[in-house]
Amino acid sequence: MLRSDQAITRTRPGKPALGKAPFGSVQFFRQLILVMLFAVLPLSLVAVLTLSILFVQMKTDLQAQIDQLHSELTAVTTLHPGMVADSDLNSALALTTDTSLVQPDFQSGDQQNSTERVNLDAADQANPVTEPVPEPEQAPAKTAYLTFDDGPSPRTLEILDILDTYQVKATFFVTNPALEDYPAIARDLVDRGHTIGLHSSSHKYSEIYQSIDHFLLDLAENSRLIESITGVVPAVLRFPGGSVNAYNETIAADLIDAVTANGYAYFDWNCASGDAVGQTIPPNSIVENVRQSRQGKNSLVILFHDSTGKKTTVQALPDVIQDLQADGYVFSALTQDSVPVRFAKIP
Ligand code: ZN
Repeated sequence: MLRSDQAITRTRPGKPALGKAPFGSVQFFRQLILVMLFAVLPLSLVAVLTLSILFVQMKTDLQAQIDQLHSELTAVTTLHPGMVADSDLNSALALTTDTSLVQPDFQSGDQQNSTERVNLDAADQANPVTEPVPEPEQAPAKTAYLTFDDGPSPRTLEILDILDTYQVKATFFVTNPALEDYPAIARDLVDRGHTIGLHSSSHKYSEIYQSIDHFLLDLAENSRLIESITGVVPAVLRFPGGSVNAYNETIAADLIDAVTANGYAYFDWNCASGDAVGQTIPPNSIVENVRQSRQGKNSLVILFHDSTGKKTTVQALPDVIQDLQADGYVFSALTQDSVPVRFAKIP
């Protein structure tokens, strides 16, 4: 036994002779470990090195794919801002379902923009990546145009003070009897930076809508008086009752063409305050009407009335303005170049 042990211990280190030690002995396992160290460890190192190289390669490939996907995503969202938040189309669609209105005019700028965008979308889908990426569109601002019909009146001064408080500009569509009663107020509203617009001389539907000539003659009188009192040649018009109404539907299409040919820009409304549906509408109802009627619309033309009896319109105005400001709207007065909001023409 001793000789055998000596023989084993004489085995040169570095060259383990597995198999010479009895299976299961301490020597056997010691030799087994040495074999593992000398044979398996280098293989493991090679394997780890190979895996590291593969991992780095995969990481580089993945990063390249991520970069490509990111640039594609940027291109797509630039071409399709509506994928994120497009209320223009919603606005146009909402207009068609607004029960407070006659049907909208599909010639309006909003609708044209929506149609152009839909066409752009269709073209992009055919070739989404190789198309040149256009400059990002300017996000359309939410704009509210406050409009007051039938003034000026003693209420106008209260309205003007509120508008000044909130630094808001608005539009007043005025008639001749009111102008004759309150010429100083008409001058005041112009001096304070608001738009004065035409709303007919007599405001008598049965007379002005008898014919196109009747309307144009009346309108000319309205224009002359506005200019003589304020010095402003008015360019924007609100038809009494809107561009298409029960009194003018047989001549509405020709009337609109004639008015436009005479250089006037007319504006209907797409948001109704409801302040004229009864004698005295509670202020909170007016606020709520505007809130409901403005849903989904970026460009609001809001209809109010300015006359001695419309006290609750004045009372509601601060809340209406604050509500719109909180919802992200900026205010502006209408000009000839404002995007028109118009009812549908009768063919
Ligand atoms: Zn009116």
